Amino acid sequence: MKVYEFSESFAREKDRQDSLKDFRDRFYIPKHSDGKEKIYFCGNSLGLQPKSVREYVVCELEDWARLGVEGHFRARNPWMPYHEFLTEKMAEVVGAKPIEVVVMNSLTVNLHFLMVSFYRPTSRRHKIVIESFAFPSDRYAVESQIRFHGFNPEDSLIVLHPREGETILRTEDILRTIYENGDSIALILLGGVNYYTGQAFDFAEITKAGHEVGAVVGFDLAHAAGNLELKLHDWNVDFAVWCCYKYLNAGPGAVGGAFVHENHAERFDLPRFAGWWGHDKETRFLMPDQFKPIAGAEGWQVSNPPILQMAALRASLEIFHQAQMKNLREKSVELTGYLEFLINQIADERIEIITPKNPEERGCQLSIRVKGKENHVQGFEQGVSSNGRKSLFEKLLQSGVVADWREPDVIRVAPVPLYNTFTDVFRFAEILRDLMKSEN
Ligand SMILES: *Cc1c(COP(=O)(O)O)cnc(C)c1O
Repeated sequence: MKVYEFSESFAREKDRQDSLKDFRDRFYIPKHSDGKEKIYFCGNSLGLQPKSVREYVVCELEDWARLGVEGHFRARNPWMPYHEFLTEKMAEVVGAKPIEVVVMNSLTVNLHFLMVSFYRPTSRRHKIVIESFAFPSDRYAVESQIRFHGFNPEDSLIVLHPREGETILRTEDILRTIYENGDSIALILLGGVNYYTGQAFDFAEITKAGHEVGAVVGFDLAHAAGNLELKLHDWNVDFAVWCCYKYLNAGPGAVGGAFVHENHAERFDLPRFAGWWGHDKETRFLMPDQFKPIAGAEGWQVSNPPILQMAALRASLEIFHQAQMKNLREKSVELTGYLEFLINQIADERIEIITPKNPEERGCQLSIRVKGKENHVQGFEQGVSSNGRKSLFEKLLQSGVVADWREPDVIRVAPVPLYNTFTDVFRFAEILRDLMKSEN
């Protein structure tokens, strides 16, 4: 049982003992209008900039200026194999073998490309299982794939809902849905961590159940990569996709990541949308007519990749490599545990944490539901259902907290272990407490 205290001296002592404390200095922390550093709890939306990014990007700009096209082979970090420089460290972050990981495109694009190969519906087996409150882009992608194959989402989409009066999906209910629908399920596609509730799913159990009924199991790791300690290879996940601008701090619109399990590395029989960058490296520049995919995740590449974006990601992955996910996760559990403790000290009937209490079932994010007089309104219409409730969030922003608001009634706060401190968490709780007092 961890013992936390509602005091600044406690928070400062925790920071002093933190073996990862020096990493904060390697990031730019945005400043509030009063000149103080903001309490940045939005690393789940856009991670902060590592100071080293500039050097990595400038290096490629210089080589481009110096070498022009010859930079493909003669740059200090030749552009031709540039994506390979990221593979190993990216694989470390998601618990994969290098052959299973590639950095390319962006998240939703990768989701489509991998569904081309891994969602192959038949008249008997055509359903896709997703969670309610799935990120809208995932829902659009999945529904459009269903339609693309001539099916109808009304028949082919299974949406997992929490039980009446609950917000979190129970693993037992997910598994029951999988077994009940059995051989009609073609694909199970869940967020590793749900972006709205902050719930982390049981990857191993869900994957096992999915495979038992003969389905393919994929995960969208937008909110899990760089947040949880993942073991994609050991869990036998078939495929996964993620973005790198959230917890992975690679900047706005960063290049995304994809995982294809080693079991599928040589499945050249799978349909795929091909492009020259996925073609066998030995013969790529002989420009043959016949497409010969690279074995492993690299074989799903289509275009030559954005070097400047990859340079930023490379700087960031270097930091993850030095910090190690295991250590980050250890700190994260404590940091979020502290945030939860403090919020529970000040919470009254107006706010409630909807994220699971068990650290195993969440990452660093806590989703705080703000209850209002008009809480019975179920609509999502901005301004109609949320006016009163949103004011608390707006006051947080004015006080130098960066968090975000999700309709209809949730404030998401995500202290990340690389650059957030126990003192950040304490200051946030003080501000929240004072705002709630003044709203009385
Ligand atoms: C952030 C996020 C996205 C964003 O998709 P992009 O293709 O990167 O724009 C998609 N899905 C989930 C679950 C997300 O959290």
